Amino acid sequence: MSAQPVDIEIKNIIKEFPTKGGESFRAVDNVSFNIYRGEFFAMLGPSGCGKTTTLRMIAGFEDPTSGEILLRGKAMQNVPPFHRPVNTVFQDFALFPHMSVLQNVMFGLEMKGVSKLEARKRAQKALEMVRLNQYDRRPRQLSGGQQQRVALARALVNEPAVLLLDEPLGALDLKLRKEMQFELAQMQEQLGITFIFVTHDQEEAMSMADRIAVMDRGKVLQIGPADQIYETPNSRFVADFIGETNFLSGRLDRVEDQFGWVDLGDNLMVKALCNDPSITVGQEVTIAVRPEKINLFPTVGVVKFDNGSTATVEDNKAALRRDPDINQVEGIVTYSNYIGTDTRYMVNFGSASHSVVARVQNFGLRSDTTFQVGQPANIFWDAETAPILGH
Ligand code: ADP
Ligand code: MG
Repeated sequence: MSAQPVDIEIKNIIKEFPTKGGESFRAVDNVSFNIYRGEFFAMLGPSGCGKTTTLRMIAGFEDPTSGEILLRGKAMQNVPPFHRPVNTVFQDFALFPHMSVLQNVMFGLEMKGVSKLEARKRAQKALEMVRLNQYDRRPRQLSGGQQQRVALARALVNEPAVLLLDEPLGALDLKLRKEMQFELAQMQEQLGITFIFVTHDQEEAMSMADRIAVMDRGKVLQIGPADQIYETPNSRFVADFIGETNFLSGRLDRVEDQFGWVDLGDNLMVKALCNDPSITVGQEVTIAVRPEKINLFPTVGVVKFDNGSTATVEDNKAALRRDPDINQVEGIVTYSNYIGTDTRYMVNFGSASHSVVARVQNFGLRSDTTFQVGQPANIFWDAETAPILGH
């Protein structure tokens, strides 16, 4: 990644808005990151976390209170929006209702002084790119998906270096959204244009983006590819916002290499990944364990494996104990929910003060190993799959 040229540098950007009380509200709080050329970059976070404000500063619709934005190495301060090599696609499409599809796409070019003939040629090419051929229709005669395509063509026709997309699929229904996600990702790859895509939908960000910046309350908490953010979240907020997570609270007892041992109380010591150097021994911490990393086996009888073989419960426990990275705890199943691809179990353990959700995949061979509510069960998971979070 770092070998790639940088398209956008965001340096210590702060944006404050005045409030009615005469004070100021910090919508973007000292944000810094780089976006590489040709990258599909997503800004992800809950409503109000500052995504749109950040995008508007890149586009030039809003000035930072402090900090600097560089586009292809050039400082953007005092450069008006129409002189920046970027274009924005808005969630509400913002099409001109009285103009045809073709006129909507041509309009910007004509304003820039491009000849009508040339503008028409380029508009047609852009509309081909988004696979729309209803040139003469008005926006209200189009479906939501088609209007989105016009908005996209109107941005692409300027051949921007960077395309900014602010929740562009937010107004579409689920099925159409999925289709457009796929098409947008393909289009981005073909065109090689840098995309900055804003969304509050984690699945959308994960399915499309090369890298994701997770934001909360004006700050960027973590930046990385989807798998990195999912597997090694750096904070409780990120772990919670992306996918489903179990949190186990305790006190950090000791650290050795990349692992930490967390005292959960009830004589339970759990091993987990400890990669954050700011976490110190003795501190209250949280372990994040994804439900699909937790597995179950019974406390009596035999354990059936996916390959059809079996072992006694005691033998299986002993085998797991030989692996120093495996955490193994006995609990009680308090909830069971069959959902086709897998079954979700809730298991309470340690004087019932801890509970985790485990998702056990339904392999055909082990479909006879199900757990009933009220049944004791052994749960286990690999320490390497569960990071310790300090905040
Ligand atoms: P997001 O796009 O992540 O939902 P925004 O960037 O739109 O969030 O807004 C971030 C915060 O800044 C919100 O609390 C919002 O109310 C506030 N905000 C945005 N624009 C303005 C403005 N022009 N004046 C005052 N407050 C604003
Ligand atoms: Mg927004």
